[in-house]
Amino acid sequence: MKPYTYARARSIREALTAAGADTAFLAGGTTLVDLMKLEVMAPEQVVDINRLPLRGIRYGIGGLHIGALERMSDVAAHESVRRHYPMIAEALELGASAQLRNMASIGGNLLQRTRCGYFRDVATACNKREPGSGCAALTGINRAHAILGTSDACAATHPSDLAVPLVALGAEVQLTGTRGRRTVPLDAFYTLPGSTPHIENVLRPGELITGVSVPRSAWAAHSTYVKVRDRQSYEFALTSAAVALELRGDTIKEARIAAGGVGTKPWRLTAVERALKGRPATADTFEAAVAGAADGARTLAHNAFKPALLRRTLVRALTDLRERR
Ligand SMILES: Cc1cc2nc3c(=O)[nH]c(=O)nc-3n(C[C@H](O)[C@H](O)[C@H](O)COP(=O)(O)OP(=O)(O)OC[C@H]3O[C@@H](n4cnc5c(N)ncnc54)[C@H](O)[C@@H]3O)c2cc1C
Ligand code: SF4
Repeated sequence: MKPYTYARARSIREALTAAGADTAFLAGGTTLVDLMKLEVMAPEQVVDINRLPLRGIRYGIGGLHIGALERMSDVAAHESVRRHYPMIAEALELGASAQLRNMASIGGNLLQRTRCGYFRDVATACNKREPGSGCAALTGINRAHAILGTSDACAATHPSDLAVPLVALGAEVQLTGTRGRRTVPLDAFYTLPGSTPHIENVLRPGELITGVSVPRSAWAAHSTYVKVRDRQSYEFALTSAAVALELRGDTIKEARIAAGGVGTKPWRLTAVERALKGRPATADTFEAAVAGAADGARTLAHNAFKPALLRRTLVRALTDLRERR
């Protein structure tokens, strides 16, 4: 690990003032410390934010608000989250391990870096880690890589399970920096790799995520998260689907859908949502609606199975949800 200075902030103002151009904020440390040990990340300064007042889970007329320092396990266990946003609780519980979820924060989860093996191996070429060095994954082992939103510079998937239901439900992130506060839809927070895969989001240097808000809706309470992976626990998604449906009788009134494991960012599937709306909730409708889910996909040597797996994951989530009524 490269040497760095450590500071513990007692207030948001102190954290923002302490943060320089090459600062990393430390929350649970479950990703940051790993990457510092591997020298994939080598900030000059680490500012510990664990004492900041960024806790709290509130549900009310405006929807759900989660403080950035809330731990994954506490959010997953929260009664309002389980009752009104089951897909969020399910996505959290299907991620990492119980020990990690007890440490890992919501802000850190949304900012975790990709699990592409080449990104984490400093001996290999990786445009995300070292801009302009090339991409070893495009000609290397790319079974887990993305098929949507990729570029000639990078095809790494976004790893967060939590971000998938949040994007489906139109969540927003609250940000605070020396230039003030702002709120950004999570979908717009993440950027596509293009020719600059080292830029993953619109967070400015030294800016903090303070919280996440999820709107109240008629469909969030009837929702699920399905995750398909090589082993049943402690593994990232090959494909995943966050699906929320508002049903009137057997008719789909509204649908909100996003996919994980397939995109360079969490992937909202608005065309699938439109194809479901107003249709009967039947197997035929589901199959027809997901037919174009992977349109525009660019597969690599080892991940050509992903378009079909994505369609099957979506159908399974839709079917599970219909039967859960
Ligand atoms: C073995 C293993 C398996 C895992 N499996 C899964 C999985 O299946 N699904 C899944 O979704 N995740 C998985 N994870 C990732 C895990 O969820 C993240 O490591 C965790 O959520 C990160 O949170 P943290 O608080 O520890 O972040 P940290 O490691 O403290 O920080 C992560 C990054 O976010 C920045 N940061 C943190 N908080 C803020 C903030 N409030 N404002 C601005 N910047 C901030 C840090 O500077 C750093 O760059 C796994 C991790 C491990 C180690
Ligand atoms: S896919 Fe992206 S993260 Fe992986 S090696 Fe290529 S540039 Fe790096």
